[in-house]
Amino acid sequence: VELPADPILENTRRQVKSACFSFVTPKKTSNPELIHVSPDMLENLGLTEEDAKSKPFLDVFTGNAVYPDTNPYAMCYGGHQFGNWAGQLGDGRAINLFEVEHENKHWTVQLKGAGETPYSRTADGLAVLRSSIREYLCSEAMFHLGVPTTRALSLALTGDKVLRDIMYNGNPAYEPGAVVSRVAPSFLRFGNYQIFAAQQEHGMLKTLVDFTIKHHFPHLGAPSKETYVAFFKEVTELTLKMIVHWQRVGFVHGVMNTDNMSILGLTIDYGPYGWLEGFDYGWTPNTTDRQHKRYRYGNQPNIGLWNLYQLANALYPLVEEAEPFQTILDGYKTEFETQSLRMMRSKLGLETEDAFDASLIQELEDNLLLAETDMTIFFRNLSRFSTEKVSDGLAIIKDAFYNLDELSEDIEEKWQKWFKRYADRLEQEQLSDEERKKKMNAVNPKYVLRNYMAQLAIDDAEKGDYKLVDELFQLLKNPYDEQPEYEKWFAKRPEWARNKVGCSM
Ligand code: AMP
Ligand code: MG
Ligand code: MG
Repeated sequence: VELPADPILENTRRQVKSACFSFVTPKKTSNPELIHVSPDMLENLGLTEEDAKSKPFLDVFTGNAVYPDTNPYAMCYGGHQFGNWAGQLGDGRAINLFEVEHENKHWTVQLKGAGETPYSRTADGLAVLRSSIREYLCSEAMFHLGVPTTRALSLALTGDKVLRDIMYNGNPAYEPGAVVSRVAPSFLRFGNYQIFAAQQEHGMLKTLVDFTIKHHFPHLGAPSKETYVAFFKEVTELTLKMIVHWQRVGFVHGVMNTDNMSILGLTIDYGPYGWLEGFDYGWTPNTTDRQHKRYRYGNQPNIGLWNLYQLANALYPLVEEAEPFQTILDGYKTEFETQSLRMMRSKLGLETEDAFDASLIQELEDNLLLAETDMTIFFRNLSRFSTEKVSDGLAIIKDAFYNLDELSEDIEEKWQKWFKRYADRLEQEQLSDEERKKKMNAVNPKYVLRNYMAQLAIDDAEKGDYKLVDELFQLLKNPYDEQPEYEKWFAKRPEWARNKVGCSM
């Protein structure tokens, strides 16, 4: 299947009809400079560190040269933003360069921040250093945490200044421009399908779905109504699996609009994301969503389902029967409960199943909300708990509390009660304390990209010092390992960084 392209070969902003993508040319930059390259991703693409030092590499991965015989393009998609249909969105600042086949894997390579496309609407198609560092570090960190995600190959300065409405002395400020090259088997989103359903272009919709199945779900077989339903079922499963991972590590995406939902269940679009510090279902890093908190931590599973409803609506014209979709969507809720329980058991080091596990976990979560408790430190330290020394429980997790003054007698009592219950529950398990610790430490990361860590790297980078970008990059390659040389990053958010999260644009 070939996808239909927009016949207009210009980057100018416009409404695009009857096309999956538009050919575009990346913007030339004034003084490109590579800041960081991911050795892992180089290898995945069949490139060497030597290649990464070459002029052609710099030129291609900042958009200054188009690789011979390739045709960069921006994709057309729509989407629901914060629950409302937003019409055409599309790759407004992303440009797909080419696909690479290496060791039987297919990768699409894309530049983020390489200038205007037909889909740029009122914005400039550019990215700043700040948001690019956040995307670069976090997407690679997520990969090493075992969370399905798009990847990043390189981070570069463009040498150009970009105007952003971060106020400086009451005026919009210029910031250093940057380009991230990011990589995924596909960047297709729910919104790519929604746009054709919304425009009643069912032929286009079928072409795109058939293309997706052929290239990314080939095991589903030839196009048919049954195949389309099976396709939807797989996307549902992949989406759910991704969100369970987010809940496990305390990642809050922040802008789960349907245009930011990958059809492959990859975490995509690292904008206003954040990491839970204090465990809190109500927390969102997105400052534009502070009122309704639609995309708060505890609501991510529900939003995943809401988004899947929108995808089902988009695919409906190909099947013309609601029931098969409804059955799959109904299954999401029970499947989420099952997988979420399994995930929480693993965080607690429970290998067997007990009818009261859900209640044990509920009591734990209630306790975590009593006083501000750092999620990462709590679960990591919990692995040191021993049934021999139940009364040490509170001391083991004490580092996780942000303010020890908050620990009233009542709260301490609730924790003692929970540790007693946890110890009783552990009596049913076969593992030794040492074995359990090892298993727990493989699912409870020691190091995550705390919001203030990214911010420190950004502050240095804006002064031309990229050492911290590299240090965090190295640290987050092994998030589950003890790394004594980096122990300082296993710490609570400092007080100055409270409520400071990065910004997406
Ligand atoms: P997001 O909220 O990042 O998912 O972006 C929503 C839409 O806005 C997408 O179509 C993006 O491509 C577009 N967009 C975001 N930032 C820019 C920008 N600086 N220039 C052009 N388009 C943008
Ligand atoms: Mg987006
Ligand atoms: Mg974005």
